[in-house]
Amino acid sequence: MADHYEVLGVARDASTDEIKKAYRKLARQLHPDVNPGADASERFKSVTHAYDVLSDAKQRDNYDRGGNGRSGGGGAGFDGNFGNFGDIFETFFGGGGSSRGPRSRRERGQDALIRVELDLDEIIFGTHRDLEVDTAIVCTTCNGTCCQPGTAPVTCDICHGTGNIQRAVRSLLGNVMTSSPCGSCRGYGTVIATPCVTCQGQGRVRARRSVPVDIPAGVDTGLRLQMPGSGEAGPAGGPNGDLYLEMKVRHHDVFSRDGDDLLCTLEVPMTDAILGTTATVKALDGDIDVEIKVGTQSAEVITVKERGVTRLRGNGRGDLKIGVHVATPTRLDHKERELIEAFAARHKAPAPALSAFQQGLFAKLRDRFRG
Ligand SMILES: [Zn+2]
Ligand SMILES: [Zn+2]
Repeated sequence: MADHYEVLGVARDASTDEIKKAYRKLARQLHPDVNPGADASERFKSVTHAYDVLSDAKQRDNYDRGGNGRSGGGGAGFDGNFGNFGDIFETFFGGGGSSRGPRSRRERGQDALIRVELDLDEIIFGTHRDLEVDTAIVCTTCNGTCCQPGTAPVTCDICHGTGNIQRAVRSLLGNVMTSSPCGSCRGYGTVIATPCVTCQGQGRVRARRSVPVDIPAGVDTGLRLQMPGSGEAGPAGGPNGDLYLEMKVRHHDVFSRDGDDLLCTLEVPMTDAILGTTATVKALDGDIDVEIKVGTQSAEVITVKERGVTRLRGNGRGDLKIGVHVATPTRLDHKERELIEAFAARHKAPAPALSAFQQGLFAKLRDRFRG
């Protein structure tokens, strides 16, 4: 059985108000008065059940602790009612029962999935896209009725609209009546005598449409965003499936991502590392002046607060972490070499020596860059 919180699409710590709001929204979409699909009625039932448990403090507490919702007077009473409720539903709306009357041509459309490629700079603040989506949509000629305008389905004269054929079968126990779907109308009970020419009687056609989407900041590769009701239209005017957008964040040559932080490497000339300077870093969201302190070492990390990615959930932004790489000159002319030699003679640096092994932050950053 699906998790009640997932069914309602709320967090585990959602308030009673949030739960009520989520239920109202779903009930409006799924209530059989507005959404006659068999799938919608099933979902409506599980949504209602989830709401009944989570809106009652005692039942919710019990559910959170792994109980089955049956302990306590309220729980037991509810479960009893739920069974009846389901039966009433199926009697009225024809869900589930295989041989109890004709089946509906209307079905919920399938979910659709499209991939959205984003650049790193687009996920810092989020972005807007008009996505081209190729799905089934309701046929506008017949409005999903499947019939040529001005005509209607006619009752099947083989099964007389029941969708089933009764047959007497001889068995050891004598003659037994069996019921099977009518082959003439395929169990629908009606026949579409003059199918709509636009959709060939399907009630839907394939079309390319533009779906405007606001993609939130902070998404990452593999994340799927769900857009309820934006998927494939169902057959015969059935409700739409959902549209899923799967995110893919493109590789960036300069910046890399570590959760909500952005990482980059800044090449600093040896002389600037020694003397100190201010460097202008071209970040994805504008220039940042960074202070290179006197005596900056290779592998030092300069952290610029709140210049990373905006957090997908919660507030604020991650940090920009700039790993310093001190660049040693590789070509010196005669005069420069003399100056460096004079400096070395005067500075009297100790000879190269082993030091304690440092698995510094920058080493970790560098591993990530390569991985
Ligand atoms: Zn049509
Ligand atoms: Zn029939």
